[in-house]
Amino acid sequence: ATPTAIMVGTGLGARRGVLFKNAAALEATASVQTVVMDKTGTLTKGEPEVTDVITAPGTDRDEVLRLVAAVERQSEHPLAEAVVRHADGRGVPRADARHFENVPGHGATAVVDGHRVAVGNRRLAAREGVDLGPLAERRDELAATGRTVVIASVDSRAAAIIGIADAARDTSATAVAELHSLGVEVVMLTGDNEATARRIADQLGIDTVIAEVLPGEKAAKIAELQRGGPTAEEGAGRKVAMVGDGVNDAPALAQADLGIAIGAGTDVAIETADLVLMRSDPLDVPTALRIGRGTLRKMR
Ligand code: ADP
Ligand code: MG
Repeated sequence: ATPTAIMVGTGLGARRGVLFKNAAALEATASVQTVVMDKTGTLTKGEPEVTDVITAPGTDRDEVLRLVAAVERQSEHPLAEAVVRHADGRGVPRADARHFENVPGHGATAVVDGHRVAVGNRRLAAREGVDLGPLAERRDELAATGRTVVIASVDSRAAAIIGIADAARDTSATAVAELHSLGVEVVMLTGDNEATARRIADQLGIDTVIAEVLPGEKAAKIAELQRGGPTAEEGAGRKVAMVGDGVNDAPALAQADLGIAIGAGTDVAIETADLVLMRSDPLDVPTALRIGRGTLRKMR
């Protein structure tokens, strides 16, 4: 590896806000075969907004929102912030939540006015023994539109489903197309539910979706892709890059052959990554790969 080629590549990147942490990072970009992208905050803007609140028959909407917002006020999850903003925007009165518990990859629970309130995904609802009843169909409809669906239950009874939208970044689809034209496979990795993820992936032209992944499982999914898939033959290994923004993404960024952090992401992600995209633009992923390939050519 000639130091000059490395300097040129690093400099080219820096001008676009593509920060290679070291020479090895630059070299690794040249051999990437699969790019795994986190959905929320990477392919999407990470600015979730409540679009729908569908209550169970006989349930008052503002009363459910009062209970749910009390729980979510204590959570740091971006979805929780969206729910709180929505409740506050409607002028829903506040309530106190006790025994708050954050359940990673599931949601949150607490006791409000003596009632156990749970807010989260299908997995959390199942743990709470919630039967969605007539809301099940509405949940599926919402998910099919690409909304993230959050289930609110009170004392294990389904109270409402909340649809939350998070728009794709303007350049996500183009970034995917450019990666494909570079001969690179693109995979979406997310903790969100399968139907929601599938819809957004379809909009962006992504073939492979790995959804409903628990925060602690993301790194193992990367390792599986590095081996060439769940049923890979010996020697089918692939060079995998992971692009992420969240605290949850850090172990996966470390596991990948190349960890890429979104500049607007969390400090942990940025510290763990080999490469940081200062402009938080997915288009800078194919740009980085092209710089890496150009640099490698000059080194031979
Ligand atoms: P991601 O990989 O998209 O960052 P997480 O692992 O943080 O997702 O969460 C996975 C899913 O768990 C979310 O899509 C949501 O359905 C649910 N969830 C997690 N935390 C909360 C919360 N505080 N309120 C509502 N839903 C939550
Ligand atoms: Mg994310």
